[in-house]
Amino acid sequence: MRILTKAILALCAAAAGHAQAITVFACEPEWASLTRTLLPEVSVRTATTHLQDPHHIEARPSLIAQIRGADFAICTGAELEAGWLPMLQARAGNPKVQNGQPSMFFAAQHVELIDPFKGTITPFSGDVHANGNPHFHTDPRRVLQVAKALAARLGSLYPAKKPLVDQNLTNFESELQAKIAVWEKQLQALKGRSVITQHASFGYLWPWLGLKPVADLEPKPGMPPTAAHLEKVLAISKTQAPIGIIIAQHHDPKPARWLAGSMGMPSKLSIIPATVTDDQPGAITRWFDQLVTQVTGLAK
Ligand SMILES: [Zn+2]
Repeated sequence: MRILTKAILALCAAAAGHAQAITVFACEPEWASLTRTLLPEVSVRTATTHLQDPHHIEARPSLIAQIRGADFAICTGAELEAGWLPMLQARAGNPKVQNGQPSMFFAAQHVELIDPFKGTITPFSGDVHANGNPHFHTDPRRVLQVAKALAARLGSLYPAKKPLVDQNLTNFESELQAKIAVWEKQLQALKGRSVITQHASFGYLWPWLGLKPVADLEPKPGMPPTAAHLEKVLAISKTQAPIGIIIAQHHDPKPARWLAGSMGMPSKLSIIPATVTDDQPGAITRWFDQLVTQVTGLAK
């Protein structure tokens, strides 16, 4: 009898433990952080870091194992992960996180995208964003839209967690709204100024802050800068008086360094992580704080 009671207790404990352990696969650290912000108890595996180009990562066996064991997956979508996520989904064979399933959440489906690629895509087009720029996490207002949609999805998948998720969403929303007001004030003086960029990594930042991107170091999206193209960018910079050059941390800094030196403003190069530098709750706010500090630093 005692053995039976022990066995039942062990089974109950296992069931309770299993019910709590929601395993999440996040393609990018900003969505890992957002999921943890809304539901801190989840166990999250994040496929990429701020030091990687999210367009191009290797579909490693460890990632296949992680997505195979996931209860829920959150990715950007809009073809950002087109080079690796479909392969992971196919090889993992986890029916829960295939496209169209409620446990496969694409953030891009919940925001309006800017700059869809117009024209014919050829093998020489580069990493064009056919559906629009997928780097929308650089607009905190869009992050908030994603947070609302994610909270609704988590609440419907895990009804017992809904009150907690909704409360965390309310907290996140009020914190971020207050921060947005502060950041906009900090960057107000930069409105209308020009900036030189690389790739569309911060493409949503410019319209939000009223900055004008006047040249891109990449001759084509996703293609490294060439000497001939950099000469053109240098010519543009002489007529536009940009506040500086902003590139992402995963870009090779050499071309931008050459350009800043040639423009006679070597200190006006800002290398910014293209996303959050950790995947814990609060990472998004911390990253925007850093971003705003670095951008305002350029104008000084
Ligand atoms: Zn891109």
